[in-house]
Amino acid sequence: MRKNIVAGNWKMNTTVPEGVELAKAVNDAVASAQGLKCDVIVGVPFTHLCAVKQVIDINKVGLAAENCADHTSGAYTGEVSAPMVASTGANYVILGHSERRGYYNETNEMLKTKVDLALEAGLKVIFCCGESLEEREEGKVEDVIRAEISESLFHLTPEQWKNIVIAYEPIWAIGTGKTATSAQAQEVHAFIRSLIAQKFDNNVADNTTILYGGSCKPSNAAELFAKPDIDGGLIGGASLKAQDFMGIVTAF
Ligand code: PEP
Repeated sequence: MRKNIVAGNWKMNTTVPEGVELAKAVNDAVASAQGLKCDVIVGVPFTHLCAVKQVIDINKVGLAAENCADHTSGAYTGEVSAPMVASTGANYVILGHSERRGYYNETNEMLKTKVDLALEAGLKVIFCCGESLEEREEGKVEDVIRAEISESLFHLTPEQWKNIVIAYEPIWAIGTGKTATSAQAQEVHAFIRSLIAQKFDNNVADNTTILYGGSCKPSNAAELFAKPDIDGGLIGGASLKAQDFMGIVTAF
């Protein structure tokens, strides 16, 4: 059966000492929590990976980078490759976040390469997709999601697919305080699962974890996570305070 996951995406926040403190607090809270019904991951800036790895129990709290390069090594000043991320002890990478697509012009084609390199390096991928408000209003939600997922992921084998987690993040809900209603989110999650079933089969689709992201907080997480196709959350703002993040983790 598929896993429930709550993953934090710290984005470009916290200094290394602040990040270490936050990671310690999350790790301690997870270690002392009884009967958690989800896996917990922290997604941190590249600069924090090694230091955070030292203060978490990786068997209890997964560690994600927020991006990786579309090359393995070489003359790409300022870039960080998937093997470099893996060498820190991180086990996940977040790819295709709408901020990367929007501000850094990441295309579906480029993300396909990043996905391949991440999997080759032994990382699991949290792959983000989602529509803008304009696209939603124009009735293009399914077209956008289908293109993002099929163009970057549908070349993978069922074996490789076991290392893919999908995060549906409507762009209009990210950092805006505007959460998709649980019904809106469920509708898209069910669509994503049907796409996966069409490409592979029902078994692969049923075993795929699909997270919701976009202004998820302790007060709305339980309602979202109660939906049959919502298997947890990718959490931005609310992952920056251990108490809020744990409020979402314990919403299952
Ligand atoms: C995100 O950026 O992945 C996200 C979901 O952000 P927020 O929770 O702040 O909307």
